[in-house]
Amino acid sequence: MVLKLETSPLSDWNGFKGRPFLISGPCSAETEEQVLATARELAALDRISIFRAGIWKPRTRPDTFEGVGVSGLKWLRTVKKETGLMVATEVANEKHVYEALKYGVDMLWIGARTSVNPFTVQEIADALKGVDVMVFVKNPINPDIELWIGAIERVAKAGIKKLGAIHRGFSSYVKTTYRNQPNWQIPIELRRRIPDLPLICDPSHISGSREYIHEISQKAMDLSFDGLMIESHINPDKALSDASQQLTPNDLRELLSRLILRNASPTDPRLLDVLGELRQQIDIYDDHLIDLLEQRMKVSETIGQYKKENNIAILQTLRWDEIVRKAMKRGLAKGLSQELIDTVFKAVHQESINRQMKVMNNGIENHDHPSK
Ligand code: PEP
Ligand code: MN
Repeated sequence: MVLKLETSPLSDWNGFKGRPFLISGPCSAETEEQVLATARELAALDRISIFRAGIWKPRTRPDTFEGVGVSGLKWLRTVKKETGLMVATEVANEKHVYEALKYGVDMLWIGARTSVNPFTVQEIADALKGVDVMVFVKNPINPDIELWIGAIERVAKAGIKKLGAIHRGFSSYVKTTYRNQPNWQIPIELRRRIPDLPLICDPSHISGSREYIHEISQKAMDLSFDGLMIESHINPDKALSDASQQLTPNDLRELLSRLILRNASPTDPRLLDVLGELRQQIDIYDDHLIDLLEQRMKVSETIGQYKKENNIAILQTLRWDEIVRKAMKRGLAKGLSQELIDTVFKAVHQESINRQMKVMNNGIENHDHPSK
């Protein structure tokens, strides 16, 4: 089902400087000097539509920097006056909305830790009724497209016309290369469900690290995203939050110069980078495999310790036969070849025995592999 919301196209928004629609600025406003110095350099790029800075920061652990609060809004007002850039900040409750509007903030975004909560999103939407302000809704931290759409609908129902979505990746228990999993199929599905909704990507929070920001930005452009939100800081290494993922304005200029914009003709269906998406999945599963092997070997070592303490021989042939028989049955039922199961399990068993030998011999490596 395709949803029609009463939103205006990005090209009609004030300050639109062409595709990609760019939002940049520090993760957090820290000092007036840091905010202004970053904003001046960004304004000089002449590509940025909106200057962002977090005033209230949702931090994972207490006793970390949680934002400067209302005093930072004055600095945003100065940025606007001095550079002509429009300004944006994150709002996580109605009080934030009222404060930000009082200081003339042009764009508000709802963060990933807020868009998971319909009560809070509704509270924010109610505070936005009758207000003409730009709003972006980040995806919730969990990969739930209905929750994302629900949050967008709540804001649309409040009458917000300049409304868009930000894809910032999804958290996962399994550690992978990126800080947050892109799960590109979710924003692509969002675009299918709400075709007219402006959609931008936040490669900073997906990558968690400077080195991947370019490749994620390029991918977002290849998937026809309308814009990018990229964190930048005058001195990234000294940033009080998200230090490893922020770029200097100069590095941002360089990144933008390397971005290739392919022309997605409006008659083309939105192109899904099938190969890229599948490779992403392969990387995720390979990471899983490594993590599982690590965990399995840790258990093997614990067993080795137990055998040592109780004077039990390492090689327990019956137990090993049982493992191979079970694995073979399960593997074959799942369409895996006998050869694969055989090779993988022999290697796993060998590594287990090596580890146990090491434990038995007080850390001395075993090189003559016992036969099975
Ligand atoms: C941010 O943009 O600095 C932020 C906190 O983002 P997210 O809600 O995506 O984590
Ligand atoms: Mn951040």
